[in-house]
Amino acid sequence: MAELSGTGRTDRVVVVGAGLAGAQCAAVLRRDGWQGRITLVGEEPHAPYDRPPLSKDVLLGRTDSTALDLDFGQLDVELLTGRRATGLTPGGPGGPGAAGTLHTDAGDVRYDALLIATGSEPRVLPGAERAHLLHTLDDALALRALLRPGLRLVLVGAGWIGAEVATAARAAGCEVTVVEAGPAPVPGALPTEVGRAMAAWYAGAGIELRCGTGVAAVEPGAVLLADGSRLPADEVVVGIGARPATGWLAGTGVALDAAGAVLVDERLRTTVPGVLAAGDCVGYPSARSGTRLTVQHWDHALQSGEAAAATLLGSDAPPYDPVQYFWSEQFGRMVQYAGRHAADDELLWRGSPDDADWSVLWLRDGVLRALLAVDRPRDLTQGRRLVERGAVLDRARAADPAVPLKSALAG
Ligand SMILES: Cc1cc2nc3c(=O)[nH]c(=O)nc-3n(C[C@H](O)[C@H](O)[C@H](O)COP(=O)(O)OP(=O)(O)OC[C@H]3O[C@@H](n4cnc5c(N)ncnc54)[C@H](O)[C@@H]3O)c2cc1C
Repeated sequence: MAELSGTGRTDRVVVVGAGLAGAQCAAVLRRDGWQGRITLVGEEPHAPYDRPPLSKDVLLGRTDSTALDLDFGQLDVELLTGRRATGLTPGGPGGPGAAGTLHTDAGDVRYDALLIATGSEPRVLPGAERAHLLHTLDDALALRALLRPGLRLVLVGAGWIGAEVATAARAAGCEVTVVEAGPAPVPGALPTEVGRAMAAWYAGAGIELRCGTGVAAVEPGAVLLADGSRLPADEVVVGIGARPATGWLAGTGVALDAAGAVLVDERLRTTVPGVLAAGDCVGYPSARSGTRLTVQHWDHALQSGEAAAATLLGSDAPPYDPVQYFWSEQFGRMVQYAGRHAADDELLWRGSPDDADWSVLWLRDGVLRALLAVDRPRDLTQGRRLVERGAVLDRARAADPAVPLKSALAG
């Protein structure tokens, strides 16, 4: 269903949230022939930029800028930075006079169609207001300026970003301790036995990893753990996940789930006519997964931004439901994941965690559902396609890292 006529020069698409999903939607609208106005409204002072390099190249001092390679002037996209959305008043059900209004801290912006792409915001540890968070370019530059040889850095959370910050801090010569409440790294996303294989990387990098204990308090110069121990800390960084940045939608009629994600249908339409959502902030119905998903990864932001543009243009693209993909670069390793596994899926090791590279596969009734590849990009590329196809694997061949995954089909 087209949200807009698609040709009227006066029609205005407003995108709120000038991150990857929003910028991608704007760029694809232009690429695919949208002639009307496009306005991109963002709270940060910067033009849209990429976040993955923040915890990698920016912290490591290899770059100061991660701006997206898009020329908004040439695209004729109006960029309103430093402007925070505070609410919206939906328009009518359609036709003339159907326009809605986005309210911002610098005045109202009228829209004919609106894309909500306000992303996510980092979870804050209660009592740790003094600690650093890593979400924005400014956060990354400020944190980098603190890293120096001998700095005692305590990192709370051994998730994806925690591991990357630990990697960069070690490279800068810091003494790093990572505190993780779960039994092993990445406890929410990976089974403990896979997380334990990753724990060895921390030790190999000279980092102390304290799993199974939470933080009781962050004090000046120290972190007090729930088990009573006190870790000296010159600086503290908290990386315990993120939640949808949708507080500004309260009372607007845009329905949210219990976790605050914007509820959208398979074409990324919200419960309010003419209003779509994409990126970290949405919960979308995934037929592939049999459940509603909120995904906070780069590839989803890119693809859902593009899918939202297709909906706005009324294209007959298939429902939005890609195989999920993300990567992390930690301790000199490239870690990649594709698909989505359930806790009761069968886990199959492909190689040993003692090897330089290995993968793990998740199968259900022999069907490949997901894989994690450590320095095995070919496994990832081939496995991602096999997940897409719902391929059935021969367990013995799939477990042999010498056999290409695409040659490990059953039958
Ligand atoms: C440090 C870091 C490292 C990462 N590394 C990886 C990685 O290696 N691999 C991977 O797959 N993913 C990674 N990610 C995740 C990935 O970057 C995100 O999934 C992606 O950026 C989400 O894009 P988005 O457009 O939905 O949201 P965002 O990029 O968060 O953009 C949303 C924008 O909306 C703005 N905004 C919020 N509220 C308002 C408001 N009320 N008014 C106006 N503007 C508002 C925000 O300021 C922000 O600029 C990383 C994330 C971070 C923070």
